Amino acid sequence: MTKISLVKCDDYSKADNAVREAVNLIGGVSVFVRPSERILIKPNLLSPKDPSKAVTTHPEIVRAVIRLVKEVGAVPLVGDSPGGAIRDIKNLWKVTLMEKICVEENVKLVNFEAAGSKEFDIGDKNIKKVNFSNAVLDCDGIVNLPKLKTHMLMSFSAGVKNLYGCVPGLMKVEYHKYASKNKEFADFLSKIYLFFKDKIRFTLVDGILSMEGNGPSAGDIRKTNLIAASSDAAILDAYLLNELNYNISDSDLLKNLKITKDIFNKIELAGEPSKNFNFKNFRFPNLRKLDLLPRFIVRILGKLLWMKVDINKKMCVKCMLCIRACPIGAIRHKSNAHPYVYAKKCISCFCCHEMCPSKAVGFKKSILAKIFIKDS
Ligand code: SF4
Ligand code: SF4
Repeated sequence: MTKISLVKCDDYSKADNAVREAVNLIGGVSVFVRPSERILIKPNLLSPKDPSKAVTTHPEIVRAVIRLVKEVGAVPLVGDSPGGAIRDIKNLWKVTLMEKICVEENVKLVNFEAAGSKEFDIGDKNIKKVNFSNAVLDCDGIVNLPKLKTHMLMSFSAGVKNLYGCVPGLMKVEYHKYASKNKEFADFLSKIYLFFKDKIRFTLVDGILSMEGNGPSAGDIRKTNLIAASSDAAILDAYLLNELNYNISDSDLLKNLKITKDIFNKIELAGEPSKNFNFKNFRFPNLRKLDLLPRFIVRILGKLLWMKVDINKKMCVKCMLCIRACPIGAIRHKSNAHPYVYAKKCISCFCCHEMCPSKAVGFKKSILAKIFIKDS
């Protein structure tokens, strides 16, 4: 049986008690962490956003876990590698308040890029060698602290997806070039997860503020008031998705990890019943609906059914992060003009959508796509 705990928490000022309860309900921190071990606490630090935006794991969740790890005599470290286009790590630490809490708790923040990396063959058919940061490789164990969010390419981002941050810097962008489609990226992510699985001591999901709609950075904030924990990140993801009314058999990521609905018979739940959380009508990205249309419909309608990435000039602040985020150079710009997407080259990886700080990257839809895919 896999234990999953669900704890209700309506405000980050109460995170310390809620996190403690969630970890106690799956056995307590001493079951997962031993004295003197170097434990990497890995939040989701996608981009330099204030914690109230629900893009990154909230610092009070990180603080609570730091304290738990210290209580058993282990040495906590905190770190994550942000989206590939983000270069100023010090600014990211400052804006996400990671620097503040790490100073206050006297804990080292590790820079995944500066730590160097090593190459591995993880058995992916598209990407022969994958680099992982030494900051992750050198620790004794990982406490995985994802944010509960939707994701344009994968539909959702939680425990398994959070491990993609173990790939340092621009390499994340590079790998998207070879794994740009949902199935390929799901395959790649599942292999990364399996590579680190034994090192993950437990996963604790920050779902006090979650993100629905077109995440992982441009979606809408949803107050789900949830802290969830488990020793198994993939099973926890599957459970939460199911409770959010997402059909887990539509997830290539979970399929790769051989997680089906049968797994729900092997879960031992503790804490609050899931009906007590604000999960009803949680919205997933609308683009994935196109992927899920029956193949015969897609075949018949062919080229009349499309969605294309598009930049909204009114919202664009010309930061040019999307250009750095695009793995194949499909975004161009002339002198001081707004960037634009060269549609023929675009491979629909949505890295630009993920990195845009001002929600200026959206989608154009064909008339038929508008009929089949209503905005979520
Ligand atoms: S589309 Fe977004 S990321 Fe690209 S330049 Fe405009 S604001 Fe920056
Ligand atoms: S334009 Fe955006 S979606 Fe298209 S390939 Fe570049 S980053 Fe990916």
